[in-house]
Amino acid sequence: MNNPDFLARSLAAVWHPCTQMKQHETLPLVPIARGVGVWLYDFDGRPYLDAVSSWWVNLFGHCNPRINAALKDQLDKLEHVMLAGFTHQPVVELSERLSRLSGLGHCFYGSDGASATEIALKMSFHYWRNSGRPEKTRFVSLQNAYHGETVGALSVTDVALFKDTYAPLLRESAQVPTPDWRYAEPGESARDFALRCAKVLREHLEQHHQETAAFIIEPLVQGAAGMGMYDAEYLRQARALCDEFEVHLIADEIAVGFGRTGTMFAWEQAFPSPQPLSRGERGLIPPLPRAGEGLGERGSTKPDFLCLSKGITGGYLPLSVVMTTDTVYQAFYHDDTARGFLHSHSYTGNALACRAALATLDIFEEDGVIEANRAKAAFFHQAAVPLKAHPRVTNFRNAGMIWAFEVEDAAPGFARRCFEAGLKRGLLLRPLGNTVYFMPPYVINEEEFRMLVSGTLEILETL
Ligand SMILES: *Cc1c(COP(=O)(O)O)cnc(C)c1O
Repeated sequence: MNNPDFLARSLAAVWHPCTQMKQHETLPLVPIARGVGVWLYDFDGRPYLDAVSSWWVNLFGHCNPRINAALKDQLDKLEHVMLAGFTHQPVVELSERLSRLSGLGHCFYGSDGASATEIALKMSFHYWRNSGRPEKTRFVSLQNAYHGETVGALSVTDVALFKDTYAPLLRESAQVPTPDWRYAEPGESARDFALRCAKVLREHLEQHHQETAAFIIEPLVQGAAGMGMYDAEYLRQARALCDEFEVHLIADEIAVGFGRTGTMFAWEQAFPSPQPLSRGERGLIPPLPRAGEGLGERGSTKPDFLCLSKGITGGYLPLSVVMTTDTVYQAFYHDDTARGFLHSHSYTGNALACRAALATLDIFEEDGVIEANRAKAAFFHQAAVPLKAHPRVTNFRNAGMIWAFEVEDAAPGFARRCFEAGLKRGLLLRPLGNTVYFMPPYVINEEEFRMLVSGTLEILETL
């Protein structure tokens, strides 16, 4: 199957995402036959360590036996039913459990991350319209933000390579300075920089709050920007400012949710939650949020909208969800049909995807994953010291199960050459520009992490 004929068939039939297809004239596709744990295998049995969790989605390894078993069980019960007018067990259980974990309720499902962004933007706008504030139609995001690539999501994304071509199609949105500490002044702490950036957000909202519906932000880590990390103080400031100026705060945790930054949701690091999800706590999980909690109220500690996807199904099936407060929900609850949120996707709340998500949450609970990852990450961090000390490595940083750094003097084409050099060494690395990052499945073990570090060190010597 690795034969040129198969690859030619693939190239003729499949148009790949985020790819200039012509580059595959010289860059071979990697055909994958199977996966197990952190490993992907091609048809000749050659292994590749999936250091990017297959685009940040995989949490507990490929072909995880527990998720497989749950899906096989679900497959014989119900694969899918439309969610308008119908309901089923996996979607109800998942919604209740996500509510308990996040403190937000009213789960509205989509299929991909970008559809969650669209839902949150439309819901925010429609909330204000239903509340007699139809002039609140604008959105603000951070510089270098990434929120997906459908037309609405791209409008609040700020990555030139993805956005510029489509600019004439997009609705203008405002960007405020990112608190990503790589942009701090020399000697300025990440927190001071966050405070300085928050001042600019204040100035923006002072001027534009009347027409602004929402501020959308990736909590703690701006993934596509090259794993830009920032101080949680910025989230506290943003929450307070959004309250003060009556602007929604949309937390896009599509990449950082489900333990990636060390807490179940990155947001919790700004507003620590008293209830971490851990072993044996199933019976002690906090109650569903009370009516009227959260939204738009002074002193709220939750985002108004929380967008989740990627890791939600453990990397198995496309599923996304937007969670919000009673206040938002109530603004749509009315005799008038058009005041309702008349948005849908055919696969909304797909039963198989919800069941995979439930199996994923079971693993979090049964294995005490958040705590176990803390110990693992501390060990991995030690193991990564030689990288941190490498003369070409700058801005070495870590948040939970994400490590990233920039490579000095990286020649043009570094990302591609690093990808190819990684494959030769059995590593799936996919740098963003000159940023190399590790975002492995949580099941990676010490030996595998050491391989990742030593392989990356070798690559730095040769590129
Ligand atoms: C990946 C991502 C999205 C888009 O999700 P898709 O499933 O790729 O549409 C949105 N926001 C963030 C922060 C992401 O990392």
